[in-house]
Amino acid sequence: MKIDEIKGLNVGTVLENVDLSKYTTYKLKGIGRVLVIPNDVASLKRLISYINDNGLKYKILGNGSNLIFTNMVYDGVLIKLDCFNDISIDDDVIKVGCGYSLIKLALKASMLGLSGLEFATGIPGSVGGAIFMNAGAYNSDIASVLESAFVLTPSNEVVEFKKGDFAFDYRSSFLQRNPGYVCLSACFRLKHGDKDVIMSLVDSRKERRVLSQPLEFPSAGSVFRNPSGDFAGRLIEEIGYKGKVVGGAQVSLKHANFIINIGGATGRDIKELIFDIKDKVRQRYNIDLMVEQEFVE
Ligand SMILES: Cc1cc2nc3c(=O)[nH]c(=O)nc-3n(C[C@H](O)[C@H](O)[C@H](O)COP(=O)(O)OP(=O)(O)OC[C@H]3O[C@@H](n4cnc5c(N)ncnc54)[C@H](O)[C@@H]3O)c2cc1C
Repeated sequence: MKIDEIKGLNVGTVLENVDLSKYTTYKLKGIGRVLVIPNDVASLKRLISYINDNGLKYKILGNGSNLIFTNMVYDGVLIKLDCFNDISIDDDVIKVGCGYSLIKLALKASMLGLSGLEFATGIPGSVGGAIFMNAGAYNSDIASVLESAFVLTPSNEVVEFKKGDFAFDYRSSFLQRNPGYVCLSACFRLKHGDKDVIMSLVDSRKERRVLSQPLEFPSAGSVFRNPSGDFAGRLIEEIGYKGKVVGGAQVSLKHANFIINIGGATGRDIKELIFDIKDKVRQRYNIDLMVEQEFVE
């Protein structure tokens, strides 16, 4: 990869040999050869054209709260949309850039007495990552509040997607099933509500998360989707894996559906532990646990 050529594109900040532990919530060891923070849509388009013309691989990074880099070196181009962070609020409609923090957005809306994003106040992703994943909690999700979004298509055109175009499903969206689309900005429609009621819900859920999740350790949230009528955490406890350690990765003692980094974990440690759990659960219960987190090669 010719890093000087990428720098010569004048698309924004270009960082070399970045410490990947700073870019994922698992804080996994590793190096990213190049990380670009494009200034604007025109820069992003120029960068992606260059990447495609040169047959390079790339990955859009949100807040890295659902990602596991499985190799010690990522040798493609990492793209972070930190400059896509404008926000405007008009009555019950919020327009926001996809690099904006979901927690910040949800708290801002809640504090203004706008209801609909309370579920998101504990989800440490970016707006773009949350749309990609259809992130959700407490029987609510992005699909329930998103109205539309601007998206860069694989042919490098900006188009507006209405909610229906995302074909949202449980923790899934059109973007996930069709690689090559980049979410640029989003429009949410919320509902006016009582600020005190909204904030007390936000506070009580925060308390619940703090009590039930190992937030004191780096993780990427729930590892497996709950199988129908059961809980992945219960199955993991039943196979005796609560506290199980591989390298620097451990099945949390507080919540068995979380894997935590207890120090120096690599993506390989996490992957090994995940596949070990999957095998044991399949052997014992004939259940194929689905991994909610994404491996990046
Ligand atoms: C403590 C903790 C608790 C969590 N709780 C929840 C929860 O309750 N509910 C839940 O759903 N999730 C939860 N998560 C998981 C995670 O926060 C969500 O999946 C989140 O939506 C990921 O967003 P991100 O910006 O970090 O995306 P990343 O992890 O950076 O990326 C995820 C995927 O989205 C793609 N992507 C990111 N931005 C864009 C974009 N702009 N355009 C196109 N593709 C993009 C990436 O390329 C990647 O494929 C939790 C995680 C942690 C660490």
